Amino acid sequence: MSTTWTVVDPTSGQDLTEVAMASVADTDAAIERAHDAFAAWRAVAPGERARLLRRFGDVVDAHVEELAELEVRNAGHTLGNARWEAGNVRDCLHYYAGAPERLHGRQIPVAGGVDLTFHEPLGVVGIIVPWNFPMPVLAWGMAPALAAGNCVIAKPAELTPLTAIRIGELALEAGLPEGVLTILPGEGPVVGERFVTHPLVRKVSFTGSTRVGKQVMAGCADQVKRVTLELGGKSANIVFADTDVPAAAAGAPYAVFDNAGQDCCARSRILVERSAYDEFVSHLEPAVRGLRVLDPADEASEMGPLVSAVQRDRVLGYLDGAEVAFAGSVPTTGTTAGGFWVPPTVVTVEDPAARLWREEVFGPVVAVMAFDDEEEAVALANDSEYGLSGSIFTRDVGRALRVARGVESGNLSVNSHAAVRYWTPFGGYKQSGLGRELGPDAPASFTEEKNVFIAH
Ligand code: NAD
Repeated sequence: MSTTWTVVDPTSGQDLTEVAMASVADTDAAIERAHDAFAAWRAVAPGERARLLRRFGDVVDAHVEELAELEVRNAGHTLGNARWEAGNVRDCLHYYAGAPERLHGRQIPVAGGVDLTFHEPLGVVGIIVPWNFPMPVLAWGMAPALAAGNCVIAKPAELTPLTAIRIGELALEAGLPEGVLTILPGEGPVVGERFVTHPLVRKVSFTGSTRVGKQVMAGCADQVKRVTLELGGKSANIVFADTDVPAAAAGAPYAVFDNAGQDCCARSRILVERSAYDEFVSHLEPAVRGLRVLDPADEASEMGPLVSAVQRDRVLGYLDGAEVAFAGSVPTTGTTAGGFWVPPTVVTVEDPAARLWREEVFGPVVAVMAFDDEEEAVALANDSEYGLSGSIFTRDVGRALRVARGVESGNLSVNSHAAVRYWTPFGGYKQSGLGRELGPDAPASFTEEKNVFIAH
């Protein structure tokens, strides 16, 4: 039996709309339709598939503003961020539209004949999307999977289905055949779980919590189903005393409070060399207090609300009894009165066993700690079950390279916090994930490499 989900505007706490949630029977029917569409889709000539994906990207481009406004209301993302996210969907489609004609196999020298490899599409690929980046995470799986000739069935998070539903409509408008891309709103343990157990789904690309990711991986093992996991993080921003300390402090809030800290790449641990610690904290405080936490629809807003009352309460639970060094402000009047707000908050930590130092808060909370030397900085950064992202601030090129090689993390940036680009690989070490997304190799990860020997 199908049910409905009430979608809420996190800025005001008001109900937005109702969305029908798929049942197991609906999911089975959608998977079968996708499977039926696969034979024709894989046979579309590479240049034609490329053209369809480019057109899909163009149609998204014509709707960037609409999609952005929808995301502001559904997820509370700032308008600036939401525009970037909708543009990221377009860019992923355009980038991977270059893949169908470039999905080369190899010709390998052998005796007595010719040896060829082919990248064959898998079939139906299931993409399970979290609520924190509804548009980009959908695009990161969808675009390369479609380019490689797969049919995609995607489940948005319960809380944030609206932009995905619209992107599904835009795909049809762009001319993608029915069944090639299906957006299926539903509950994780119903629709997501069925992607794992249904034998016609040949790969699951999961982004979400480490807890659910482990269940998905265990479930996929039953059919030796291909799986990619993008999970949690507790990334370190390592600041050495030789850097421009005021600039590093001024930039640090954006690396953790972006998307109200609901970012798997959030640099939620700041490690500062002891000799620069006081100077860093003295510059961090005005930067945090000055962060513009406003209605996300306001062009000037730098941080919006959390996605839900549940998430707000979870984050506040972490702060219960914690010694807060300083915090920013939140709006409390007019359109924002009933919203799920938490101020950007800084805690200083001395004990690496502290819960706020170890656990992913997934909210606007950052923990700051001092370190004495390079070796200790790397050891502290690596003392985590996670390894997704991180930043290193230093003027010493040798140290930058040593630390970048030493930190066990999939995406690092030196003297910058920028590490996620659609044309470079993205993914985690340790319990932050399995496999990589994005970059030039992503389409191949949605294929099987087949080897064929032809005797002379
Ligand atoms: P979640 O794991 O609860 O949900 C993620 C998705 O999985 C949702 O669509 C949900 O419906 C679905 N799901 C839930 N139970 C399921 C089940 N039993 N089987 C299949 N699917 C199921 O996580 P969330 O609360 O939506 O997102 C927050 C978490 O995601 C954070 O921990 C964050 O770090 C992580 N995250 C990681 C990345 C990354 O790229 N590494 C990106 C975004 C979010």
